[in-house]
Amino acid sequence: MLPEIDRTKPLEVLRNYGKEITIATLGSHSALNILRGAKDEGFRTVCVCRERERIIYESFGVADEIIEIGDYRDLLKKSLQDELVEKNTIIIPHGTFNAYIGNLNDLYVPVFGNRKLMLWETIREKQMEWLREANLNLPKTYGRAEDIDKLVIVKYPGARGGAGYFLASSPEDFYEKAERMIKAGLISEEDVKNAHIQEYIVGANVYFTFFYSPVFNRVELIAADRRYESSVDGIGRIPAEDQLKAKINPTYTVVGNFPVVLRESLLAKVLKAARSVVEVSKRIAYPGMVGPFCLETVFDDNANMYVFEISARIVAGSNVGVPYSPYSYVLFGEPMYAGRRIAREIRLASDKNMLEELVY
Ligand code: AMP
Repeated sequence: MLPEIDRTKPLEVLRNYGKEITIATLGSHSALNILRGAKDEGFRTVCVCRERERIIYESFGVADEIIEIGDYRDLLKKSLQDELVEKNTIIIPHGTFNAYIGNLNDLYVPVFGNRKLMLWETIREKQMEWLREANLNLPKTYGRAEDIDKLVIVKYPGARGGAGYFLASSPEDFYEKAERMIKAGLISEEDVKNAHIQEYIVGANVYFTFFYSPVFNRVELIAADRRYESSVDGIGRIPAEDQLKAKINPTYTVVGNFPVVLRESLLAKVLKAARSVVEVSKRIAYPGMVGPFCLETVFDDNANMYVFEISARIVAGSNVGVPYSPYSYVLFGEPMYAGRRIAREIRLASDKNMLEELVY
């Protein structure tokens, strides 16, 4: 069961805000994108960050104010929340919120987006249910390692940037590699027990950032990217013979992203998938998607699209779209990117007196 999300308090807080809204986020993940976007749309910005990342936000000048915390969860402290409320703050959530803060229910500072969907995202089975309901093509999921009958990828619960993932092609291979990974300190025994085993789709990966706008009541394609992953993207630089000798196992730790433009005819399935996901979101978590979301896909050699993950908030891959991607430029005719698109929506909603429709 998913925990309940209560929007009474954030709404009460939001109703007392004046016209001057501040946009804040945690200093990591896509904060530069979010804060630059907020400034481009004329908002005051606050970056709440740890000492070790402070240098990043000081170096780029996109935060009007930096508030230092010891730990990400300090964002939930009453004193800090009260300070943010005092500044009429709307918080923009990103991947770090999922990974470190949990269900966001303890935040009474208004959070942009639908927190119920952000919860769905944290549970792989729920994500798959959502994607299945939307009639998308998914890789097969294996309930037990004993059933592995083809190449699979082994993942773990929660967003952890691909760390510790591995490939296996039989039950024996799974256990042998799992043991090796545990010994190397890359994963724990607990991880192996909770592993999510998924059919590996050989093909080209593309990650799409969309935006659902309650103001315009439409789905927009904002950017597309692919990841730069260690060590899988480095293996091609080593001759096969040496790979075999060194017994190199690909892993999937994300270290960066590249922009992608899709063959245009393939966009039809992408846009249909996004609309379908938004339709289902309305049924599973009223009122459905608000703001940025991402579909992670692989196109096989027949250009069939498989969707293997969904994120219900801004993703770090959208950072490649600052100041614009080909798609956002075609749509808006001006620099537009996920962070700015969020701020634009807040500005438009504020002008139309519909800010409450952005906070669930
Ligand atoms: P995820 O944590 O689901 O985003 O996966 C991390 C990385 O693993 C992706 O960026 C892909 O490179 C790879 N990957 C995940 N699932 C699959 C799959 N079913 N088929 C092929 N590659 C995958």
